Amino acid sequence: MFSLESALRTELSSLAEQGLLRELRVLDTPCSPRARAGEQELLSFASNDYLGLTAHPALSRALAEGSFAWGSGSGASHLISGHLKPHAMLEEALANFLGFARCITFSSGYLANLAVTPTLAARRDDEIFSDRLNHASLIDAARLSRARQHRYRHGDLKALAKLLAASSAKTKVIVTDAVFSMDGDIAPLAGLFELAEQFDAWLVVDDAHGFGVLGERGAGSLSHCGLPPHPGIILMGTLGKAAGVGGAFVAASETVIEYLQNKARSFIFTTAQPPALAVAALTSLSLINDSDERRSHLNDLIALLQTSLSGLPWSLLPSGTAIQPLMTGDATLSLAEALRKRGLWVPAIRPPTVPTDASRLRISLSAAHSKEDVLRLATALHEAGREIL
Ligand SMILES: *Cc1c(COP(=O)(O)O)cnc(C)c1O
Repeated sequence: MFSLESALRTELSSLAEQGLLRELRVLDTPCSPRARAGEQELLSFASNDYLGLTAHPALSRALAEGSFAWGSGSGASHLISGHLKPHAMLEEALANFLGFARCITFSSGYLANLAVTPTLAARRDDEIFSDRLNHASLIDAARLSRARQHRYRHGDLKALAKLLAASSAKTKVIVTDAVFSMDGDIAPLAGLFELAEQFDAWLVVDDAHGFGVLGERGAGSLSHCGLPPHPGIILMGTLGKAAGVGGAFVAASETVIEYLQNKARSFIFTTAQPPALAVAALTSLSLINDSDERRSHLNDLIALLQTSLSGLPWSLLPSGTAIQPLMTGDATLSLAEALRKRGLWVPAIRPPTVPTDASRLRISLSAAHSKEDVLRLATALHEAGREIL
């Protein structure tokens, strides 16, 4: 083996020994609750396609037509020559839909997050206040900044207030997931906004899992929490989860968006996403707007899962969203395996993604599931529970 490889091989072997080696599973079917990997048919509870839109023919058509009309790529970054009419139309439609003054789009949510926090809090004497359970991309974003980062206890407004009160930073930025990606609970957005106002801080909200699903017409977590758009709020959302396409956006005031356009490195130094994706995302936006039935079906499934899992030796975290974590601890891997044998796919989430002792099965529900699908999962979990314990 090439000598530099051997150290990497040793580390990988040690991960494998701990059962922590991660491997890619190749699916032979498009994103859907019904998946096939090689010979195995799987009923999947593993995607973020909360409204089941990835399979919507109107989106495939928009993508195909968008590509014939606008070509396969944008050819340059936004500021050079890659900002095409579909990008501009998508940004305007998103701003209108969300009620913010302006919007900017990105190739992914990861890049959108890298754009916001380090740009607002760029200086050594700025301070960032992050929920402890924030998504990895928000943590990485804070690391890219020279500012000091404080991490407050999950959802703890009192702890955050204390940190803010003790801070003398000129620019303070509060950063939070709106729906926490591994727990499924919703951040106390109204309380966070009150603190932001009181301490003159920006509030950055990552609504990757709320946009399209929560709130009026799927406008997201701010709407769900009764928080109207405000120039002090910067809202990020992804277009690859409920929206079923790919890419992301940041919605904010005119000033903030113009500032990001001029300063955010992950906007400036990357090729604009293919315009066909913006065409498809525009179609997705109107589907989201008309998806009250899908959202209400999804809510029925959430309630059904919660009642049908009662009596299990493990409990669900208190989550009202499509993310339903079953806290299975040491049994996580064997349970995931027992489910897989029964043709069910629920991802096992283990450290370092979650804290030690907090291993879980992360059940993701989608409007593409049927009630029968949910009941099949519940039956399998009850059976596997008896088998394992
Ligand atoms: C998925 C996710 C992102 C990243 O979005 P991508 O478009 O997939 O890069 C950011 N934040 C949270 C909370 C997420 O769950």
